[in-house]
Amino acid sequence: MSKLRNAVMVRKTSLKRKQNVEHSPQRKRLCRERIKEESPRIVNVTEIDCHSFKDLTEICSIRACLLSWYDKNKRELPWRRMAVAESDLNKRTYAVWVSEIMLQQTQVATVISYYNKWIQEVNEMWSGLGYYSRGRRLHEGAQKVLSEFNGEMPKSAEELQKLLPGVGRYTASAIASISFGQVTGVVDGNAVRVLCRTRAIGADSTSSAVTEALWALANILVDPVRPGDFNQAVMELGAIVCTPKAPLCSECPVQAHCRAYQQVIKEEKAVSKRLLGNTMSKLSCTPDIEECGSCSLCLLDRKSWVSSLGVMNFPRKPAKKPPRTERTLTCVVTRKRNTDDTEEYFIIQRPKFGLLAGLWEFPSILMEAELTETKQKHTILDRLAELMGSSVTEANLQHLGEVVHIFSHIHQTYHVYINSFSDTTVITVKQEETECPPFRWVTKAEFHQSAVSTAMKKVFRLYGNLCMNEKLFNKGDKQECGFETYGEKRKGRKHTGPKDSGRRQLSMDSFFRPAVKEPL
Ligand code: SF4
Repeated sequence: MSKLRNAVMVRKTSLKRKQNVEHSPQRKRLCRERIKEESPRIVNVTEIDCHSFKDLTEICSIRACLLSWYDKNKRELPWRRMAVAESDLNKRTYAVWVSEIMLQQTQVATVISYYNKWIQEVNEMWSGLGYYSRGRRLHEGAQKVLSEFNGEMPKSAEELQKLLPGVGRYTASAIASISFGQVTGVVDGNAVRVLCRTRAIGADSTSSAVTEALWALANILVDPVRPGDFNQAVMELGAIVCTPKAPLCSECPVQAHCRAYQQVIKEEKAVSKRLLGNTMSKLSCTPDIEECGSCSLCLLDRKSWVSSLGVMNFPRKPAKKPPRTERTLTCVVTRKRNTDDTEEYFIIQRPKFGLLAGLWEFPSILMEAELTETKQKHTILDRLAELMGSSVTEANLQHLGEVVHIFSHIHQTYHVYINSFSDTTVITVKQEETECPPFRWVTKAEFHQSAVSTAMKKVFRLYGNLCMNEKLFNKGDKQECGFETYGEKRKGRKHTGPKDSGRRQLSMDSFFRPAVKEPL
């Protein structure tokens, strides 16, 4: 209790101290010094002059506009409630950490339900988020905090980034500013868009020059009194007002400070004057988009300005590479459990690194070249024989169909086969061989509770549909196959949790409970 009181007191004192210095001459001087210090780190001084902030007055005005807009318009999100209400610094930091990891490359709306489930108890639910190594690294980090730091979370952005696996520059700064008020800016996708537009940065936003410039701008702009709220305000603005397509400039709290917006207005004025036959008619319609002439932060080419895009001329990204095409053979291997005739499925674990790291899947092999169906069958049989020994025969192997799944960079087609065994005699997996990956036999319910990818769920659905529709098996009714009709699919599903409790990620309360020997 006294620990908790102390934490609250420390937080209150620190807030009060910050508020007292907010308007002091000392703070203004410090702020000016920080701008000078940060500026040379961005490419060079001339370039920052063109794309940075005019003066302290502009900086303070942007901060005030954004924070006041945020206070009125922010979305109520579960992790935001926890970041404010949770007085235990470790719990608060862990809560923010989980939300930040979940939010990486995933939209807020998708994350909310996963986050709320985690609040109760997280298991292998992370697989549905589609960014598979995040959960594993968070798990590793949580274990490290328990075993190496005695349950104490690192207390600065620098330490968070250095000590915790999967915590990069953005995540560390977001956690540090939101959880313990460290004055550090953040640059995520939303902040990139807001900063590039407000400062008219049109060079490739993924280049290192622009990345460094954006971090420096974010560090200059961040509010020293409410850094966490300010950073969330920038990101919130990018998420709901300064959106990638159709930004709502008329509702934007920083419109008066936005150079992209000013350039669009300039262009519109030039066009109207031209239409009115004014002497300006001889001027180009292209706005004065390169205030510093040409620098590594400007649009590479004035001609690349597209009038119809307006402020969406910023930011610029290099053209996306088309996803590569891959084909994979995969086999749904089934057997009947002796005791109650329940159908079970054989799944193996993928390697710890690379695509879909550590997830479970039906035995699969990437096809190096196009193969005829006969060759596909032989390849599958060879792989199954490696895993299961001589009990695998071609007679049991059937082609089911194809499943297409698009990953961010791969267009994957699964050629799906089934190999079914009538009883449990097929258990001769080569456990003793080191190259054999971890495996398990699971029921349908256990399959869905396991960390399997969305692609494998699609494969399983194909199998289920054919099992239902075509009666592939002698006793192929829905109980035998373990499948329901679509109407029944979501009714009454109860999360029972996998038996493999050694792989659990604990809820926050469990995580910080002392003296519990249960492994994470
Ligand atoms: Fe974005 Fe428009 Fe606001 Fe500029 S004025 S920050 S482009 S929404």
